[in-house]
Amino acid sequence: MRQIAVLGSTGSIGTSCLEVIEGQRDQMSPVGITAHRRWEMLGKQSKTFAPRWAVVSDTSLQSQVDRSVFSSETELLFGPEAIEQIAADSEVDTVVSGIVGAAGLRGTWAAVEAGKRVAIANKETLVVAGPLVMELAKKTGAELLPVDSEHSAVFQALQSGRVEVPTNGTTESPCRYPDVKRVVLTASGGPFRGYSRDQLQNVTKEAALAHPTWDMGPKITIDSATMMNKALEVIEAKWLFGLRSDQIDVVVHPQSIVHSFVEFIDGSVIAQLSPPDMRLPIQYALTYPERRTGISPCLDWKQTMQLEFAPPDLEAFPALQLGLDVACRGGSSGAVLNAANEAAVARFLADDLKFIEIPEACQAVLEAHNFDPQPSLSELLQHDAWAREEIQKWKSLH
Ligand code: MG
Repeated sequence: MRQIAVLGSTGSIGTSCLEVIEGQRDQMSPVGITAHRRWEMLGKQSKTFAPRWAVVSDTSLQSQVDRSVFSSETELLFGPEAIEQIAADSEVDTVVSGIVGAAGLRGTWAAVEAGKRVAIANKETLVVAGPLVMELAKKTGAELLPVDSEHSAVFQALQSGRVEVPTNGTTESPCRYPDVKRVVLTASGGPFRGYSRDQLQNVTKEAALAHPTWDMGPKITIDSATMMNKALEVIEAKWLFGLRSDQIDVVVHPQSIVHSFVEFIDGSVIAQLSPPDMRLPIQYALTYPERRTGISPCLDWKQTMQLEFAPPDLEAFPALQLGLDVACRGGSSGAVLNAANEAAVARFLADDLKFIEIPEACQAVLEAHNFDPQPSLSELLQHDAWAREEIQKWKSLH
């Protein structure tokens, strides 16, 4: 029986994850669930699954939460420390890291430190602290499995080539996949695919929030519209798979059927295809190396299907270029880009920035930052806080 802690269980990844677990009840059970503020929904999940723990991370809600909406078998805890505590508990063997943004870093870090299997949906952890997280995982034996659909696709495709276990004592492992020429991440292109830079000048919040293929939370939906999401995924892929930044490419694929592919040195391209549904990559991360019959839909090969691919427009979507640059540069730049973007998206959602200003503000903050090639975790958190403040101060030139 796999004992799973689902961090961020009321979000888009978390609810999909609980559906996967529901479909595999003979194999897995949720022992811990956590939410930031949505305690009523967390209570419902507690009544359905009777986990050992439920955590509300926002401590200011402690006096408001009605304990009677939770199962009597569930112990209710408060605060981010409680998330770290259950992520590291010896009763838990698998942690699903589904908390959005840099807020997900602490719980994920605790799980990696405790040597768990970590199904990682929180891309910010690797964007902010990739080298530190990967090094820690190597030390503790934690298994990092991707949940992001693109990275799950890459992970599956990589199994067609040789995998070289890095020799002990080396922290760098540039040849973990000696047969790989490059990894190509697919991008749906979001709601503004095909728009020119000019056409993006005055797009509205409502239009940016309407994603054509994926139904996700507001932050990641905006990231998808700016293509910052893909930028973060490029950085995530670099650290997760130990690639050089020139081995990662992006291609626009509006149907979101091909989730990514790997090109090998002999010219073969191996891709992973399935309908756009997060439950499949979540399930694979939980059952790996096994595959199990699940609840995700299958492709219907009786229907005519067209799959298109086009190179991305870096002029209209400069966020993507920022991601490629940061993947190349490493160090503190991932933490700065991620924090700047989170703060800029919040300003956009508050009608305080225009859509095209999100990448502009991020670029200005990246350029102004005091680059550190080998920051510690606490230094990264300082860079994160600094970048958020800089975004608040950033003034539009338009
Ligand atoms: Mg993705």
